[in-house]
Amino acid sequence: MSIHYVARSGDNLQRIARRFRVNVTSLLAANGQLFDHDYVLPGQILHIPVCPDRHYVVQEEDSYPAIAYSFEVSEERLIAANPGTSAVRPQAGQVLSIPEREGGLWMESSLAYGYEELLLDLSRWQSLYPCMHQSTIGKSVLDRKLPSVQLGSGSRRVHIHASMHANEWITTSLLMRFIDDLAAAAHATSLYRGTDIQALLQQVSLYAVPMVNPDGVELVLCGVHPSHPYYEKLSAWNNGSRQFQQWKANIHGVDLNDQFPANWETERARRSPQGPAPRDYTGEAPLCEPEAQALANWTEQMNFHCVLSLHTQGEEIYWNYRSYEPEEAEALANRLAAVSFYRAVKLTGSDAGYKDWFIQQFRRCGFTVECGFGVNPLPAEQFPAMYERVSALLLEALKAAAE
Ligand SMILES: [Zn+2]
Repeated sequence: MSIHYVARSGDNLQRIARRFRVNVTSLLAANGQLFDHDYVLPGQILHIPVCPDRHYVVQEEDSYPAIAYSFEVSEERLIAANPGTSAVRPQAGQVLSIPEREGGLWMESSLAYGYEELLLDLSRWQSLYPCMHQSTIGKSVLDRKLPSVQLGSGSRRVHIHASMHANEWITTSLLMRFIDDLAAAAHATSLYRGTDIQALLQQVSLYAVPMVNPDGVELVLCGVHPSHPYYEKLSAWNNGSRQFQQWKANIHGVDLNDQFPANWETERARRSPQGPAPRDYTGEAPLCEPEAQALANWTEQMNFHCVLSLHTQGEEIYWNYRSYEPEEAEALANRLAAVSFYRAVKLTGSDAGYKDWFIQQFRRCGFTVECGFGVNPLPAEQFPAMYERVSALLLEALKAAAE
């Protein structure tokens, strides 16, 4: 049995599945015309398989931990959702109610983390973590606010941002989970990776911008249709293709990490595209794009001790810029490499990136961290392993800043 649903702007398969509490696999099975890499067009009619209520009949030899694990909920919530049942062991044949999964949307296994998911998680945090401050640093080309999150009250400020490149949106979910883990540990006065987070956040404050390029991320996740203000242009800049999985730029076709005033002219001459493109176009002038401008203005005001820019390709840490970096940069990069098992790399032949500009302008430590390996967008299966390494690295950067 299924119901009909008319897709609307900003929909994709994962979002529709989430809304109707089904998974993408069953959505595809009910819509034979669709493939999992397809975008959904507004107005398109989809069959939504009706999801039965979440109930489960207890089998012989079942236990609460095993059932909780299968449904990805905690044992405590499973027991709480079934009052009157034995708290020790469920009885075979008994029908249990399964609670909804909880936690950030980055935890969902069919992960496709865009601007809509970011806003949902940020609003969830507002009531959850009174110690967290949310603000915005500016707006994107399409008028989306660029949210920032502050955690901690320490005088040493560390900035981390993600998704400057559109098809690297997995970096936003990595950063969101890291912030959530820190906030939860601070809130509960518990340890995170053996570190007293509350004490750490009295020395250091974290300033995060989880999604620098929301227009680009939404383009990768949802594609374009004729009502999009840049429909014609995007189709042309993308060489006529309707697939935007390779898109790194913002919605103007400008690569935001080639926008910063650190030998920008050299970068412009070096890079091949002379006009808007999926990647590598520097734009007509440094900081001509609102996302880059907002990040630079904010950075100028904030007196950051250290910055980290999260990207996805190579499992490497870039730590230098034309010898402007401070003396301690290489040692700190090696320290970050030791905990994350990424490679610290001295890079030449690249200019106009955010960390290049930060190092040149402030002579402090700035890092570009390439978190993953493979073809972008990286598959969701990589998330847990990537998170282990990235969270170790980010925590180490905060601890180093506190010293
Ligand atoms: Zn990148």
